[in-house]
Amino acid sequence: MTHSMLFDAHLCTGCRGCQVACKQWNDLEANTTKNTGSYQNPPRLSANTWLTMRFKEIEEGDKVKFVFGRYSCMHCEEPACATACPLQALHKTKDGPVLYRADRCFGCRYCMLACPFEVPTFEWSQNEVQGPWIRKCTFCYDRLQNGREPACAQTCVSGALKYGEREELLAYAKERIAKYPDIYQQHVYGEEEAGGTSVLYISHVPFEHLGLPTKLGNKAVSARAQDAMFATPIAAVGLAAGLTGFYWVVKRRREMAQKSGSKDQRG
Ligand code: SF4
Ligand code: SF4
Ligand code: SF4
Repeated sequence: MTHSMLFDAHLCTGCRGCQVACKQWNDLEANTTKNTGSYQNPPRLSANTWLTMRFKEIEEGDKVKFVFGRYSCMHCEEPACATACPLQALHKTKDGPVLYRADRCFGCRYCMLACPFEVPTFEWSQNEVQGPWIRKCTFCYDRLQNGREPACAQTCVSGALKYGEREELLAYAKERIAKYPDIYQQHVYGEEEAGGTSVLYISHVPFEHLGLPTKLGNKAVSARAQDAMFATPIAAVGLAAGLTGFYWVVKRRREMAQKSGSKDQRG
């Protein structure tokens, strides 16, 4: 089975139950935020926020209405983050989720630069041996392995977030947009964007209103990311130096992980 999710923006009520469920299941601390006049809170992803709902106001005639966009890892079919990582600390599992192995990471942050969806975040609060760690949605891989659905999908009472097999969700999404052509954009976002993603979207408003990049094209971003990284001599030299200089960090982390249990997301 290839694990996937479908977000239906038309059905989302913006309740943010999914956001809370993600924090709760993954034991992520609350962030201190400021009121900036927007309901979107937290405003962005961080080491402690792996899913946040985007709130956007749009004008419709003489009315203003909210639309809500789910913002988290897309679990790309050919993830740029994994291709950019020199040590394969991020990898695509054969059943869908893109996972992170902390004991391979040396903190170069190429994955953050490469991701077309601006998802991976950096755990600045940790020291250089215990951290820094890259943090992002795990697709609740620990739950999947025990036959449970992701916490965010399970908690969504409006039916906006559905979990299932990718081909089945694609078929369901296409059936739904065909059935309600007056409501939905006639496109399933993620079927092909950036080579395809495991998180799919349908929407009643243009996808850019959900905060999704709409100019990515259908080619996997991974190839472009690697080309860019290694075409630059400075990056290549920096990488070589980094690999040497940070080897001890990786080694030390492995020793520490063995002693105290690790933050790996293995698959
Ligand atoms: S729980 Fe469902 S309805 Fe509520 S914000 Fe999340 S996706 Fe939208
Ligand atoms: S959305 Fe970004 S972090 Fe997630 S799998 Fe794709 S490239 Fe990697
Ligand atoms: S799949 Fe799990 S880790 Fe990812 S956003 Fe949903 S609850 Fe959070």
